[in-house]
This record gives sequence, C-alpha cells and structure tokens, in this order.
Amino acid sequence: MSIIKEVGILLRAHPYSESSQVLRFLTPEHGILPVMARGVRRQSSKGQGSPSTFDEVALEVSFRPHRELQTLRGFEVTRSRRSLGKEVIRFWGASLVAELLLAHTLHEGDRTLYEGVAGGLNRLQELPSRQVPGAILAASWTVLERAGLSPALAACTRCGGAVGGEETLVRFSTAEGGLLCAGCGEAGKGPRLGPGARRDLKLLLAGQVPEELRGADVHLRILEAFALHHLAPTRPFRAVDLLHPLMVEAGEVAGGGGE
Ligand SMILES: [Zn+2]
Repeated sequence: MSIIKEVGILLRAHPYSESSQVLRFLTPEHGILPVMARGVRRQSSKGQGSPSTFDEVALEVSFRPHRELQTLRGFEVTRSRRSLGKEVIRFWGASLVAELLLAHTLHEGDRTLYEGVAGGLNRLQELPSRQVPGAILAASWTVLERAGLSPALAACTRCGGAVGGEETLVRFSTAEGGLLCAGCGEAGKGPRLGPGARRDLKLLLAGQVPEELRGADVHLRILEAFALHHLAPTRPFRAVDLLHPLMVEAGEVAGGGGE
C-alpha cells in the first residue's frame, strides 16, 4: 500500500452505508479513481463533510494497485463548482460530461483530458447564459475526442471524397462516424447539416465554444446518438433528456428577438 496525492474532479457520489460514501473522481494520473470515504455523511455543512459534485479537490488516498476501490484519507476543495447547482441547464450540462466520462471507465490517466474537462467545467460556470449550450457541447465532445471517438468532418467517411464546399446540406452518419459526400449520403440515414452547423460542429469538436450557436438541441441529439453508438454505455444518458427542452428554450430566447 502507498499514500498518493492527486487532484481530482468529483463526478459522482453514492451512499455506501450510514456514514460512508463511494466517491468517483476524474484524476490526471489515475483516470477514474473510485474511493471509499468513511464518516463523511453525517458531518455538519460547516465542516468539510464531503466535496460537492464537480468540485476540484486535492486528495490523499491509500492506494493499493489492482483494487477496485481505494481509501480516501483526506481532502481539500481547491476549486468549488457549487454554483453550477444554481442553474439547471449548467448543472445538467456538467452531469452529462460526468456521465460520458463514467461510461468510458478510464483506468489510465490522461492529463489532456483532465485539463480539458476542468477548463470545460470552468467555462460552464463562467460563460454568459447564451453560450452555455455551446459550453456543454464543447466539454462533452472533448470527452469523446480523448476517447478516440470524434466524427470525421474533413472528408467523406466512406469513400474519402470531398464534402461540403458548394453543397448546402451534407449527411451526417452516426454509424459510419462522420460526414458523407453527396453520392454516399444520398440514400443514407441521419441529419443533414448545412455549412453553419458543420462549422459549429468543428469548433465544438476542438473544445471551443461558438460565439453564437444555432440549433443547440439538434447538436445535442447528434452528440447523444454518436456517444450511444460508439461508447455503447450500459444505460442511456439521463442528462440528455433533461437538457433537451432547456436547449430548445435557450434557442428560442436567443433567436426570439432577431426576426
Ligand atoms: Zn463518399
């Protein structure tokens, strides 16, 4: 057994007994790190009972290799993300990122992923309301991209031919993993994306938040279908159904004044 010090983002907390919880952290060195936290459920809100979901925490853990569950010895919250809980769309957005991470069950560390997720959650806290749907999608695509699961947008994913250009609408195939040229996409299934939607998707895949994102609800369904198909989680993503009406609403507010 060794004592390790790590930073982590709390993705999920499960009660284990009257006084214990199982906490699942995303860490840069150990991937998803599940720890048993004893005696944390009954403490007052003033004492450090337990970190809040999405908080960044300095951890001290008793670590045994090859064990499912490690033991938390101590922690300190280094960045609180409690404010995400004040607005449902921000909270469920962060929850979607957590669901995607947990569906992937990373056993190895990935510092780039960790930093991408931490930065994505910070933006989800800080950006103005109109950019929140974009911040959710960018952070979610970052998780899939680091899992090696990002769609091909540069060329037809079936024949390698050119896509886009003068064509106004291009078929997006979830199963084939990206855009299809006019010939390959003619009879296929899947939404057809215009140049604006393709540009936005490209930014989102790079973890960037478009200044103005149209059709965030459609982008959410594209991401959901892609993640379900390629990540094959044991259950559907709960946050998507909660987020979808909020994204429709956000789009109506954003587009309502213009026309
Ligand atoms: Zn093609």
